[in-house]
Amino acid sequence: MDKKQKVVVIGAGPVGSLAALYAANRGDAVEIYELRSDLRDPSTTPLNFTKSINLALSERGINAMRHAGQPKLIDHVMGATIPMRGRMIHGRRANGDLYEESQDYDVHGRCILAIDRGGLNKRLLDILEEMPNVTFFFNHKLTGADFRRNKAWFEVRDSTPSQGQRAREIEIDFDLMIGADGAHSAVRYHMMKYTRMDYQQVYIDTLWCEFQIPPRTTAPNTDLKSKFLISPNHLHIWPGHEFMFIAIPSDDGSFTCTLFAPAALYEHLESDPSGELIPPFFDKHFPGVTSLIPPAELIASFQRNPHLPLISIKCKPYHYGSSVVIVGDAAHAMVPFYGQGMNAGLEDVRILFDIIDKHARMDELSTGAVASASRERALAEYTAVRVPDAHAINDLALQNYVEMRASVLSPVYKLRKFLEEA
Ligand code: FAD
Repeated sequence: MDKKQKVVVIGAGPVGSLAALYAANRGDAVEIYELRSDLRDPSTTPLNFTKSINLALSERGINAMRHAGQPKLIDHVMGATIPMRGRMIHGRRANGDLYEESQDYDVHGRCILAIDRGGLNKRLLDILEEMPNVTFFFNHKLTGADFRRNKAWFEVRDSTPSQGQRAREIEIDFDLMIGADGAHSAVRYHMMKYTRMDYQQVYIDTLWCEFQIPPRTTAPNTDLKSKFLISPNHLHIWPGHEFMFIAIPSDDGSFTCTLFAPAALYEHLESDPSGELIPPFFDKHFPGVTSLIPPAELIASFQRNPHLPLISIKCKPYHYGSSVVIVGDAAHAMVPFYGQGMNAGLEDVRILFDIIDKHARMDELSTGAVASASRERALAEYTAVRVPDAHAINDLALQNYVEMRASVLSPVYKLRKFLEEA
């Protein structure tokens, strides 16, 4: 059996990059097609894509990177993380005093890790770049696919100094396509024409917008810890029952913060073009924030940064025949409240390749069947194993919004926590 397969990965986000690494490590000829330009190239990357977006990386994602067969990946990644041992709840007592309450995630002190999504993505791309069997195709947008004939089409955007941007179309073939092209996946869309896919998408009534708590300017450059205005080792939450504000540490002493709130609240805050409704709203519901982010900066961030929707997607199956499989947000975009979207996507990759390897080994030992037959069984098993787990994480993520914005405050939460730890 010829083990060298042509694997094309659509999407060079964190999940697609890890999938490419797993495939390349197995000796496959790997091609990565990405709609955008190379995010490592500051001359072509749009500003809103270089902006720091912090995520919580957990054991699920770390374990997937540990098994990528590249020991230096895990060292590089871990070196750029900040451990968060629990959440810090911020509020105001009846007498008006502000309080902070630390709620550890784990009795044994285990942590989740704050990481810059762009930084993680760049590290993965750097490692892939060194592999001789990997080729990148940036500015390539998947526009069509035939999963019976294993052909795909891309719109390619070339920049020419004289004519600006010009588009042309190319056709490629492949043995396996891995769709890691995010929530609005083109791979999933084309796969639907070949398989009876159940599909459900829900936009929740919540928008999100980013803010930043700056580093302490008076701190010496050498002492990172003293640069943070609040504890760096917590995920900070200002619960507001129907909305919330959170802050995650960055490795320059700042915090990336997010306001999650219903669309009607955003409309209310937008209704005064001067932005004057914003600081008093924060003072009332997120006590202490205006002493960390100056009111003028709060207003500027709210008006400058996009107000983005949150989508939750479930579908089934995740594959068609032996030719295509979807992973990450393409298969199960989820709301971010469980901090598991990327982690679950990275875990998809580990599980997918474990199953592919298992079937390849079985075929080598017994029937000597062709690679595509082995892969077809592997992809079917992947769907069977992964769909129930991914759907469960989608549901948990939706439920955890109530936990984060309201239940963390209730006496019932404290009693339950006490009983869990007793
Ligand atoms: P993406 O990151 O969306 O990458 C998809 C790639 O495919 C992109 O580069 C895109 O340009 C490319 N692409 C799209 N269409 C095409 C096409 N037609 N042709 C070629 N390329 C294409 N997750 C966590 O684990 N922990 C967290 O704490 C966390 N916090 C979050 C907070 C917020 C506010 C949000 C919105 C999400 C959060 N997530 C978190 C989720 C996480 O960001 C996603 O799950 C993760 O980025 C998904 O990675 P991906 O590689 O599957 O998709």
